[in-house]
Amino acid sequence: MTESLRALVTGGAGFIGSHLCERLLADGHEVICMDNLLTGDLANIEHLMPEAKFTFVHQDVTDYIHVAGRLDCILHFASPASPIDYLELPIQTLKVGSLGTHKALGLARAKNSRFLLASTSEVYGDPLVHPQTEDYWGNVNPVGPRGVYDEAKRFAEAMTMAYQRFHGVRARIVRIFNTYGPRMRLDDGRVLPSFMGQALKGEALTIFGDGSQTRSFCYVDDLVEGLLRLLFSEEEMPVNLGNPNEMTIKQFGEAVLKATGSSSQFIEKPLPEDDPKVRRPDISKAKRVLDWEPKVDLEDGLARTTRYFKGKLSQQA
Ligand code: UDP
Repeated sequence: MTESLRALVTGGAGFIGSHLCERLLADGHEVICMDNLLTGDLANIEHLMPEAKFTFVHQDVTDYIHVAGRLDCILHFASPASPIDYLELPIQTLKVGSLGTHKALGLARAKNSRFLLASTSEVYGDPLVHPQTEDYWGNVNPVGPRGVYDEAKRFAEAMTMAYQRFHGVRARIVRIFNTYGPRMRLDDGRVLPSFMGQALKGEALTIFGDGSQTRSFCYVDDLVEGLLRLLFSEEEMPVNLGNPNEMTIKQFGEAVLKATGSSSQFIEKPLPEDDPKVRRPDISKAKRVLDWEPKVDLEDGLARTTRYFKGKLSQQA
C-alpha cells in the first residue's frame, strides 16, 4: 500500500488497537484513534501523540460517532477483551459489540469506508470441532459468564454481514485467536500478563484447573500483518487469524518461566466456568486468501514481551 489513507481505529488505545495505530502510521497513513479508555490506556499511545498524522479522540463508540472529512477505513477494535474485563463490564461489553458495531458500520456506510470487525475465537465457544475452521458454528453458552462477550461478537458478525449484504459496505471479519505481546495490561487477568507478572515478581504462577486445557498463542506483530492483509483483501466471509502452535497452559507457563529466567513454582486455582478445553485455529483459509502465516516463534515473542514487562514493572517500582 503506497497510497496514504485516512483510518479510524476504535479501541485504538488498547493492546491490539495501539499496535494497529503504530503500524498504520509507519506505513504512512493518517490515524484517528478513538477510545473511551475503559480498558484502554493512554500510555499505549503516548509515543504516537507527537506524530502529525495521529489524532486521539476520547469517545465511547456506543454513542453517535462523528468524524469530519474523508475516511478510507474503519478498524473496529473497541471492546473489553479479557475474561476478567468482560465479567466486570458485562453491560458495556454487550453495548460495544452491538450498539458500537452498529455506529461504526453506520459511519463506514456514510463515508464509503472499508471496514474490519475484530471478532474472536470466542464465537466458537467451547468448541466441539478441533482445530476450528471458519465454517464451524460454535458451541456457545449464551447465559454463561462468557455469554456477554461471545454473543456480543456473534451479533457484531451478523450486523457486519447485514451491512455488507444490504448496504454494500466493504466489510471484513477477523476471528482473532489468543494473541500476546507488549502492552497487554498486567492486571487484565489473561494468562500471559498474569504469568509474566508472577514470574518476574517471583510469585507462583496461577494455573487454572490442572493446566491441561490448550491454547495457541500468536505474537501481536504477526496478527497485525494479517489484519491489514484482510482489510485490503476482497474476502467477504470471516477469516481466522492466530498461531496454530497449540500447547497446554502448563507448557505455556513453563515457556514463560524459561523466557523470564524465573524459578517460580505453579499453584492450581479453580478452572473458571465455561473455560474452553481446547483452542487452535485452522489457518488454511488465511494462508490461501491472504498468503499469511505467523513468523515469530514463541521463544522470540516471549523474549520481546519479557523486555516490555520488565520495563513496566521497574516503572511501577
Ligand atoms: N489461565 C490460567 N491462569 C491465569 C489466567 C488464565 O491458567 O492466571 C488459563 C485460563 O483458565 C484459560 C487460559 O489460561 O484456560 C487462557 O486464558 P485467557 O484468560 O488468557 O484467555 P481465554 O483463552 O480463556 O479467553
